[in-house]
Amino acid sequence: PEKPLPFKKTLQMRRNYLGRACKLHFEVSPLKIVRASKQYLYDDNGCEYLDCISNVAHVGHCHPHVVHAGQEQMGKLVTSAGFLDDKMVQYAKRVIETLPDQLCVCFFVNSGSEANDLAIRLAKSYTKNEDFIVLDQAYHGNIGSLLELSPSRWKKIGITQKEWVHVVDYPDLYRGRHKDDANPALKYAQQVHTAIKKANEKGRNVAAFISEPLMTSGGVVVYPPKYLKLVYSFVRSSGGVCIADEIQVGLGRCGESFWAFQMHDVVPDIITVGKPLGNGHPMALVVTTKEIADSIGEFNSTFGGNPVACAIGMAVLDVIHNEKLMSSARNVGKCLMDGMRAIAPNHPMLGDIRGTGMVIGIEIVTDQESKKPSKEGAEILAYKLKEQKIIVANDGPNKNVMMIQPPMCFTCDNARRVVQAFDLALADIEKGTSNKPLDQSEDGKMNIPLNILSGLGGPAGLGIMAEEEKDDEPDVKRARYDEMD
Ligand code: PMP
Repeated sequence: PEKPLPFKKTLQMRRNYLGRACKLHFEVSPLKIVRASKQYLYDDNGCEYLDCISNVAHVGHCHPHVVHAGQEQMGKLVTSAGFLDDKMVQYAKRVIETLPDQLCVCFFVNSGSEANDLAIRLAKSYTKNEDFIVLDQAYHGNIGSLLELSPSRWKKIGITQKEWVHVVDYPDLYRGRHKDDANPALKYAQQVHTAIKKANEKGRNVAAFISEPLMTSGGVVVYPPKYLKLVYSFVRSSGGVCIADEIQVGLGRCGESFWAFQMHDVVPDIITVGKPLGNGHPMALVVTTKEIADSIGEFNSTFGGNPVACAIGMAVLDVIHNEKLMSSARNVGKCLMDGMRAIAPNHPMLGDIRGTGMVIGIEIVTDQESKKPSKEGAEILAYKLKEQKIIVANDGPNKNVMMIQPPMCFTCDNARRVVQAFDLALADIEKGTSNKPLDQSEDGKMNIPLNILSGLGGPAGLGIMAEEEKDDEPDVKRARYDEMD
């Protein structure tokens, strides 16, 4: 068998051959994960980690039913679209059976970004309008058109808002401007109404409103009841359509319904699905109405809907159903949030705890009264949880929200372990180091204060790469980058 590269060599080669913009989890002490099973990741030393972040491994890492389906189909037929294929039509039918009647036409693509790009094209061709309304802090993909619709990325990559993009507040009930209003749903939805009016005054018309039905990119934002229903009615009465980006939250993850939009008593005109569909195999889908689907002249995707993807997609649906993963997500999510709420009175840094099913966000704040986001606290917490062999990422607009979106086979025992780990780690941080921020040096490398490291067993315990560590892999490309700098 092929000999694995030593850890340092892998790291060095990554630095050499990959773009600097591609970030790692745990930049100062990255993990090399070599194998995974169910909700567990294993590093190059055989150490097991509880995975709270891999929402892509929807039914569990390397689920045998899914792996078998892919392997079997791969040995039989791998072809691009253009031929009649049973797997493709059977899979499309199964997806459509989970949706309201009007969402009855599928387009197969390979990534969430591709799906959203096609959704935008469909909205434009159907409405003959050009403008879009998005929520502040949204992320909808890495393709040019979608970066324009992803305010969460604008600052970082230097995009300025285009005249065809209209941004409204996301309905933030924790800190937002209408949080204390008697009817925050209406107040926030009215912003959409105003955005449409302002666009119309400039002679512009809205093609679509696009949002996640449960907003992960804002650090898990649960909309108030009726918000989406009001927004959809404003958009439709102006001639626009409504796109639900279910790329992170679809396929039962929210626990309450198979699709997240169903929690809001609305039916979108277009939905996009990605990440969980293939349990790690790259595949994505757009589902829409017949009228909207027929509005584009032609569509081709070389790999979209290939028989391997469809076999895998079908196996994923089997597992969700057979293992009752949707109801499990509801119960386990509740167990986790109840546990967190139970320890919250002991932890001034535990802010809002929110979500539904296996989409949970936990705010880390300097104190519960001021609700001031603590990015530093969240970063330290992520490293401390890693010490306890639990992988959680900090994200959201202020990078202070601990995001928990694990494989759906996550159990209540796992949830209790996570709560216990938060309890321990937060107690440690709050004991005296919580007000010592991480030092972010110019090159973006974090220097964790030594007093925190010592609490974790010192730098060796964390496995942090010392700056002076050398490797025999020549730093050719990086040297070239550096010359360019
Ligand atoms: N929409 C949302 C809500 C996402 O979270 C992502 C991926 N993070 C995308 C779209 C883009 O999907 P992909 O990375 O598969 O292109």
